[in-house]
Amino acid sequence: MSSTLAELTRRLPADAFPVIGGELHAEGVALSRIAAEVGSPVYVYSATRLRQRYGALAGALAPQGCRVHFAVKANSNQAVLALLAGMGAGVDTVSGGEVARALAAGFKPEDVIFSGVGKTEAELAMALDVGIHQFNVESVEELRALDGLARGRGRVATVALRVNPNVDAETHAKITTGKKDNKFGIDLERLPALENELRTMAGIRFVGIASHVGSQILSEAPLVKTYRRLAEAVRGLRDRGFAIERLDLGGGFGVAYENELEIDNAAIARVIGETVGDLGVKLAVEPGRTLVADAGVLMSRIVYVKDAGEMQFLILDAAMNDLVRPAMYESHHDIVPVRLLRPDARLVEYDVVGPICESSDTFAKRRKLPEMQPGELIVMATAGAYGATMSSTYNARALVPEVLVDGDRYAVVRRRFGVEDQIALESVPEWLNTATASPGAKAAAE
Ligand SMILES: *Cc1c(COP(=O)(O)O)cnc(C)c1O
Repeated sequence: MSSTLAELTRRLPADAFPVIGGELHAEGVALSRIAAEVGSPVYVYSATRLRQRYGALAGALAPQGCRVHFAVKANSNQAVLALLAGMGAGVDTVSGGEVARALAAGFKPEDVIFSGVGKTEAELAMALDVGIHQFNVESVEELRALDGLARGRGRVATVALRVNPNVDAETHAKITTGKKDNKFGIDLERLPALENELRTMAGIRFVGIASHVGSQILSEAPLVKTYRRLAEAVRGLRDRGFAIERLDLGGGFGVAYENELEIDNAAIARVIGETVGDLGVKLAVEPGRTLVADAGVLMSRIVYVKDAGEMQFLILDAAMNDLVRPAMYESHHDIVPVRLLRPDARLVEYDVVGPICESSDTFAKRRKLPEMQPGELIVMATAGAYGATMSSTYNARALVPEVLVDGDRYAVVRRRFGVEDQIALESVPEWLNTATASPGAKAAAE
């Protein structure tokens, strides 16, 4: 059994989610206690692990003078953001809402990069007025809009152009962003065509270029290729008279969900040094997933163990609305029982599913687990990134709560947003179903 136990918990960082007395904990707090006091499903994050992940990456990149801007969309909880702000991180945001979230959590305007292909006038204006560090502009159309807005407000926007280096990130099609046929960025070859216009824009201070070629990148090759092309672009722009001071290398560093090997921080630092280290620019990266993924789990309770003859189903109280990655990207999350007792438990192949009326509401197929009972708790590992931020209330389910653990303490950092809360957001117009407004109903009544 001990080998099974080691196997089951192998994706859980031991400091963050230790097994104590046969029971899985989040740092010093028993997960069963959190389930009893907060309910389930619930996301549980380890503050210690968040500090470790940020500290390790920021430390590795410090010799390159490279700043880490956390991609807020991976996990935008105020407590997570506040923790990272406290450690000196910056942020990469992709909406006005994320800019507001970052500022509310304690980031300063000079910590904020604003990316995204569809920034609206209202979003651009807000970010201009706040005075953010950098706009990563993704099209000439956006550049013109930003220039106009900035001039109108007597401001100058600090801009990096997000370029598309046409590199395959060698990752899932839904999360690759750096190829020519993606909607992101400006083709590197089309850059010279807009340079003359760029020189005339009084509302724009053009300081650098940015790129982000995709997510869950596990090998050095796409990074090397991308960073080389960016270095070439910087040299070209300088030759043509632009004072390029900044280079934003994007994020996308992959994590181990199953049997993948992460690229380690030292390798990332080395690649950066070798490809762009001699440019004399201020460097930044925009990682999301790598900083938060393994610091979080989604805990859920087994509602039924359904014996369907050929198939054995674990039906959970968590569903695709709480964690959509398996349904959306067919992604793997290790599933670990919270109580790891019974050394003689036999292994069963389960399909692990949620209660939502869609076949895609499946977390795992044919997953080998110790025989489970209804009422038992499990966690889905490596769920700290793109988990809670992608959650919804589909099927009138509660918006899943989030808990942050730090040593022996824990706090609910997002409360459960239940059906009463949801109904309270909605209203039925007074005129609905009245005789005058509903000729159909009137005719039927006559
Ligand atoms: C999503 C995104 C990131 C972060 O991606 P990760 O894979 O989580 O590191 C960084 N920059 C931009 C522009 C993004 O859209």
